[in-house]
Amino acid sequence: MATMSVAVLGAGVSGLASALALGRAGHEVTLIERDEVVVGAPLDAVDWRREGIPHFLQAHSFTARGRRELGAMFPDVYQALLDAGAHDVDLRPKLRGPLRPEDAELQILGVRRPLIEWGLRGAVLHEPGIMVRSGVQVVGLDGTTGDVPRVTGVRTSDGPVRADVVVDAMGRRSPVPDWIEALGGRRMSEASSDCGVIYYTRYYRVREGAFLPDGPWVPTPRADLGYGLFSSFPGDNGTFAGLIAIPPGDQELKVLRHAAAFDAATATMPALHSWTNADTSTAITAVLPMGSLQNTLRSFIDGRPPTIGLISIGDALCHTDPVFALGLTFGLVEARELTSAIEAHGSDLEAVPLAFDAALRESMVERFANATAVDALRLRAWQGEAVDVAHRDGGAYPLFAFAAGNAAALVDGDVFRTMIRRNYFLDPLSVLDDDVAMQARIERIFADLRATAPPRPGPSRQELIEVMQAALAG
Ligand SMILES: Cc1cc2nc3c(=O)[nH]c(=O)nc-3n(C[C@H](O)[C@H](O)[C@H](O)COP(=O)(O)OP(=O)(O)OC[C@H]3O[C@@H](n4cnc5c(N)ncnc54)[C@H](O)[C@@H]3O)c2cc1C
Repeated sequence: MATMSVAVLGAGVSGLASALALGRAGHEVTLIERDEVVVGAPLDAVDWRREGIPHFLQAHSFTARGRRELGAMFPDVYQALLDAGAHDVDLRPKLRGPLRPEDAELQILGVRRPLIEWGLRGAVLHEPGIMVRSGVQVVGLDGTTGDVPRVTGVRTSDGPVRADVVVDAMGRRSPVPDWIEALGGRRMSEASSDCGVIYYTRYYRVREGAFLPDGPWVPTPRADLGYGLFSSFPGDNGTFAGLIAIPPGDQELKVLRHAAAFDAATATMPALHSWTNADTSTAITAVLPMGSLQNTLRSFIDGRPPTIGLISIGDALCHTDPVFALGLTFGLVEARELTSAIEAHGSDLEAVPLAFDAALRESMVERFANATAVDALRLRAWQGEAVDVAHRDGGAYPLFAFAAGNAAALVDGDVFRTMIRRNYFLDPLSVLDDDVAMQARIERIFADLRATAPPRPGPSRQELIEVMQAALAG
């Protein structure tokens, strides 16, 4: 295999994972990151200055597929995370009925995002074939100009870096499309849709001697309120995130950004409150709002990469609503596929991006389309429109699959297996979409669940506003 020189731009999870996979495959890697790339004690990671990643401290869930990829690609990093306080969250106890051997995959990793970066950084900094240029900003591409520019390196705040292959891992606001145009090339085509949601996150730590109760949820407390939702995410070292999401147009609910209002709100949602109540846990962050979120997918035009010698990965290539928790996992899968494409095609720089794209395109397209459809339907429902989530042919199949499927999973082992594998990216969406019998089963179970009228998961919108206003006034 030919050794290539590779410049990886950006040391988020995608850049770190790609640098590590390529470095361990024997390539000469230069990883360039504008924030300082230090690594200290694991729990110091939450205090890192990460101006390049505004969502660094937001709630992150690490999927079952991500856990599997991490364990297979970087078992040392996986072990380092466990040693530092991350833990496997085994979903099998929630599965009704007999287990199968493959159900061992039904586990996610309880870990905060900063700790994941800490684990990957530690491995990257110990890898002799990787040079880290820390605190260095990439400011442009070097290369030949023309319809399809040949990229030969990058310009940085600390001088030029030459490379056979440049990997754009600079995240969702990557300037690379503009830089391709500056070389005379055409930017990739871009499909985009609003996620139609604002997230309010707060992290908590479980009190000494207290425990988090189990209940009718998978894997942690979550429910749709009819005008928004609440959720929670397992973290490392006894931490977890509580999250409330609302549509961006709902001005009155935006007081959620104030801690007093957020705390009053969680207290009205019994499942979430069973974890966030003051006897069980204590808040360890402020309320962290995050809006202006988009689903975005970039694609080659006419099947042709826009440049030779440049590949975009991670959020720079595709990102979807965080509720689907796909970003970190895609970053790992792409690191593996990029390394395979370079191993298979070596110095044939036109074949490498095509092979990389061929390996990923189908799953990116279907996940992007699903996120776009679910987000649009959910926003319509939150805004008061009648959306039929109870029937597969009710005109809202993507939301039926998401809402009715996840509700039915709680009471039926086969539905559970299907939904967890679909949600957590172990299987493609077709595991349910092509299984009409399973869809019919979900319909029946969901109808039964509705008939037995479970308690409302939280207050009405008006009640919530009143509770929050009272908390702010008091
Ligand atoms: C609110 C929220 C919640 C989320 N929750 C989840 C979740 O639960 N599960 C999940 O899997 N995913 C989640 N995601 C998605 C996940 O965070 C992203 O997919 C992930 O951050 C993408 O990683 P990345 O490495 O591609 O990009 P980023 O993490 O954005 O990293 C880009 C890096 O490039 C650097 N950089 C940028 N410009 C330059 C430059 N000019 N020069 C040098 N360096 C530069 C930045 O400093 C940064 O380090 C969430 C996202 C959001 C917004």
